[in-house]
Amino acid sequence: MKLKQICEGKVKLFVPDVAIPEHGKGIGFYNPAMLVDRNISVCAVYVFAKRFRERYSREPRLCDALSATGVRALRYRIESGVSRVLANDVNERAAELIERNTKLNKANIEIANRDANVLLSERRFDIIDIDPFGSPVRFIDATARSLSKFSLLMVTATDTATLYGKYTECCRRRYFANSYPFFERELGVRILISFIIRELAKYNLCFTPVLSYTRRHYLRVFGLVEKGSSKVNEVLSAFKPLYCTQTEWRFSPFGGARYVGEIYLGRLHEKNVCREIRDEMLKRGMEGSEILERAMEEIEQPFYYELPEIASSLRVNLPKISEVIRSLRARGYSASRTVFSQCAVKSDAGANEVKKALSNPSLSPSTTSERRRA
Ligand code: SAH
Repeated sequence: MKLKQICEGKVKLFVPDVAIPEHGKGIGFYNPAMLVDRNISVCAVYVFAKRFRERYSREPRLCDALSATGVRALRYRIESGVSRVLANDVNERAAELIERNTKLNKANIEIANRDANVLLSERRFDIIDIDPFGSPVRFIDATARSLSKFSLLMVTATDTATLYGKYTECCRRRYFANSYPFFERELGVRILISFIIRELAKYNLCFTPVLSYTRRHYLRVFGLVEKGSSKVNEVLSAFKPLYCTQTEWRFSPFGGARYVGEIYLGRLHEKNVCREIRDEMLKRGMEGSEILERAMEEIEQPFYYELPEIASSLRVNLPKISEVIRSLRARGYSASRTVFSQCAVKSDAGANEVKKALSNPSLSPSTTSERRRA
């Protein structure tokens, strides 16, 4: 297969010369559409590494466990400034390509050609990136054994049909939860996070989500990992039995609701960390910072209201999201956009209140009384 040379961020790369990324799988999968995700990851690693050095006065050890072309490992080495980087891929030809790309950039990174689970079971790392094709589930146990007591874990899942509710049983087998096409992006992310938290909990490691989002064909979660049973107990206390319908969710059964499982309903983003990552992205002029912006804006309320669905059920035109948010806030509720859907609103208001806000978004309570007076 032919290779071509490209640039991404500050690295040069040989990648398979194919029109469709999947066709390059045999030698080293490269998907240019993941640029934004890699930008965010570069800055997340930069921010974490800074904290790590302040705490331990040593360099964190980073493992890009499923590296393919080496793009992430090289960007972490060159752009995040982490000096102890390992790039691994089980595919021999991918490992050769990583070698070639490492030379091309005159970078100093370690390369391995092993099964990620074997590698991670043997060695400890402070930063791990798990970015596979499909589901990450089969790598999380070994990852948990490798993570140090203060570390950063980044995980991608591309089994979206499973996590978003198309294959409910498959989701149950992989993630011990039933997925449904209700609030599917956020529900998928929460199912993934729940799985990671439980896999790490066995080893007394607490996974605290710092940034979670979905884009195109994938889900991505970033979490700070810390050792300690009380921390683990605390994060587990955010797990609740979750029942959902298309528009509602509760902690106990109700009419027509489906049982999802014991799901993590705590925080999905740490605003301070998101802000630092965003600032770093802006400083570097990187594409993708709006995802961080959205994550920072989000209120902590689980799930959201899809406005187009509500508008069509009410037979009203879809108002501007910002107006609906303003109207809900004027009524004393908290409300925000969400990182998970362009046209949805998160709010602690009940469905009826949201319907009211949608029927007449400009009608905040004060203008109502003014109009009555007039
Ligand atoms: N992270 C890359 C894309 C990785 S694609 C990027 O950002 O571009 C997934 C890679 O995982 C493939 O190259 C595949 O060869 C590798 N892989 C699959 N199973 C593996 C395993 N058990 N151990 C190590 N690598 C594996």
